[in-house]
Amino acid sequence: MERNIKELVQRMTLEEKAGMCSGLDFWHLKGVERLGIPSIMVTDGPHGLRKQDGSADHLGLTSSVPATCFPSAAGLASSWDKELARQVGVALGEECQAEDVAVLLGPGVNIKRSPLGGRNFEYFSEDPLLSTQMATGHIQGVQSQGVGTSLKHFAVNNQEERRMSIDAVVDERTLREIYLASFEGAVKDGQPWTVMCSYNKVNGTYAGENEWLLTDILKDEWGHEGLVVSDWGAVNERADALAAGLELEMPTSGGIGERKVIDAVESGQLPLDKLDRAVERLLTLIFNAVDQKQDGATYNKDEHHQLARKVAAESMVLLKNEEGILPLGREGEVALIGAFARKPRFQGGGSSHINPTKVDDIVEEMTQVAGESVTFSYAPGYRIEADDVDETLMHEAVQAAQSADTAVVFVGLPDRYESEGYDRAHLRLPDNHIRLIEEIAKVQSRVVVVLSNGSPVEMPWLPQVRAVLEAYLGGQAVGGAMADLLYGEVNPSGKLAETFPAKLSHNPSYLNFPGERDRVDYREGIFVGYRYYDKKELEPLFPFGYGLSYTTFEYADLKVDRTELTDQDEVNVHVRITNTGDRAGKEIVQLYVSDVESTVIRPVKELKAFAKMALEPGESEVVSFTLNKRSFAYYNVDMKDWHVETGEFDIQVGSSSRDIHVHTRVNVESTATFLPTYTRNSTLGDIQRDPAHKQLLDQALQQFQEASGFGGNDAGDHADMMDAMMKYMPLRALVAFSGGAMTEEAMNELLEQLNNKDHGIRG
Ligand code: BGC
Repeated sequence: MERNIKELVQRMTLEEKAGMCSGLDFWHLKGVERLGIPSIMVTDGPHGLRKQDGSADHLGLTSSVPATCFPSAAGLASSWDKELARQVGVALGEECQAEDVAVLLGPGVNIKRSPLGGRNFEYFSEDPLLSTQMATGHIQGVQSQGVGTSLKHFAVNNQEERRMSIDAVVDERTLREIYLASFEGAVKDGQPWTVMCSYNKVNGTYAGENEWLLTDILKDEWGHEGLVVSDWGAVNERADALAAGLELEMPTSGGIGERKVIDAVESGQLPLDKLDRAVERLLTLIFNAVDQKQDGATYNKDEHHQLARKVAAESMVLLKNEEGILPLGREGEVALIGAFARKPRFQGGGSSHINPTKVDDIVEEMTQVAGESVTFSYAPGYRIEADDVDETLMHEAVQAAQSADTAVVFVGLPDRYESEGYDRAHLRLPDNHIRLIEEIAKVQSRVVVVLSNGSPVEMPWLPQVRAVLEAYLGGQAVGGAMADLLYGEVNPSGKLAETFPAKLSHNPSYLNFPGERDRVDYREGIFVGYRYYDKKELEPLFPFGYGLSYTTFEYADLKVDRTELTDQDEVNVHVRITNTGDRAGKEIVQLYVSDVESTVIRPVKELKAFAKMALEPGESEVVSFTLNKRSFAYYNVDMKDWHVETGEFDIQVGSSSRDIHVHTRVNVESTATFLPTYTRNSTLGDIQRDPAHKQLLDQALQQFQEASGFGGNDAGDHADMMDAMMKYMPLRALVAFSGGAMTEEAMNELLEQLNNKDHGIRG
């Protein structure tokens, strides 16, 4: 419906406008009845609907209406399937329509800086490209149903400890390349109706009051057309937040927020125009939702459960499969061990906690999928609510394992181990889970471990077991999906979206997580996840991008459509993938780019494209990727732009970050003109990087060398040494060392010439 929003804003009183910038209650926005502006509802997300009927809270404590619980983002990301994320989004959108919810609060794209992050299960990856692409799929799916999303938590909310007061101190290049990049693609390509600002400070300013983040970058640079909503209770000073670009405070502040906005407008501190623009964005959101509301919408619970099962099966990662113990055969005796088999851990704690429409019983699902020739026994093995070993349960489980042909052990992290609101303390499984695996491995040589956890765990018992399936938090259909994978109904195709470190101290943030009091310094910079493990040559337990299949794939014929290009060109990369095994399967093909030589510090390689391919046995297909400037660039803080240094880049394609199968090189030439400002402290080497500057400097150097004898031709054997020393000498040293041959005036004249040149450095 056509509406003149600007005109509507003009008809509103100051009180009405200010009022709209804070919530009505916990989950509703305010409307203005006299102008026909309705109130709409928002609800958590991200992987299901948490619509509360009665009492409201943002910690997932009180109940909510039944909804489908899909695998949480940690799992979904391991599918590396943007289309699948879109399908989940569509289903979520349908459920929102049926429940009259206008905006679903998700997805979350914060980078997994440390595996200890309490909310890592809700986030996608340690890599910004994978994260932003999965989020884009999710957003596009939900919004295709006329329901909004909230991309959260903007920005740099990578820990739960002191999340409402911590100041995340991060350099700009790291922000741009890692932490903001995880939002950037999803904002630009997905246009989420809302972006949720985080609780924390970023470089000294609350995210909600950070004009650079909310206005300069989000709105102006990335072109976000939606609005910014505060995380629940994240607003510090309402008027400052509004001025910075935060349109909506949630939940209600009981009138305090609006009073502050009114006062700020009346005192002239906040221009009325700013408030009007904010209200325009609010009205656009509200009417978008209203216009697309589908009255009487319903959804099919069974279909959504089936989708949850498919997604879970696509997301689980097969980490080990010695001597092809999996898939399991369809006869004999199998002991199913672990209390999770009857009471699965399938979702995380906090605001994303969902009341599922139903939950699979793993034992039942295994029985159904395996067929009649398999006999199952079940033993709980441990108590979920305790860490200490219950000897009776343990004994019973060991006996069950001993008398069976195979033992499948269901272990992982119980609810209390990971949740919104606090971080994990270590990477260990509970003691009773570890002991259980160890004791069973003593009596049974065919042990399969199935893990349910939202983030990496240490696996000291790995050599003692034959197979490990990482199921993450697989959602309500987790049992069916596990059975499908264990019995080969579905061929595993998930790959890790994060590195599993051999031990916690290997993690790059280890020395600075979670910081000191209210400050955390991101001193590892851009070296997050595999970017660090690669550079340090550290062997992870399982690398980023890793995951096994029941079939095998071959990579061949890597071709690029050009080997010489400029940073304005695109280059197409083709590679042939063949399923060389005897089962249909899916392969996640990963393309990394490595800058062969660089004057700036860069990761060994970075993920720049990926694709998931379904191939029948023997089938072969060519997959194509397109790379552009951004694929080769780093963020240059002096230029305030993405920059490609002229030179060679290695294009590497493989099945994980540590399994590169084919590679080739291209030469990229920069078209950027960069005008550095030289000072008396600029080094000779830096000035000489540009041929024209070099020429000017060389003339001056010649005079200097003639006068001082320093670094001249008669340096003989020491010529190289001299050159190297001169390279790091500041310009002013020429004055000091030249014995009067170069005066201060001559140096200043030279500087003027260097800085006034109407050319710049290329590349
Ligand atoms: C969480 C958000 C959530 C909000 C509403 C906050 O505590 O950080 O992710 O959307 O509560 O429940």
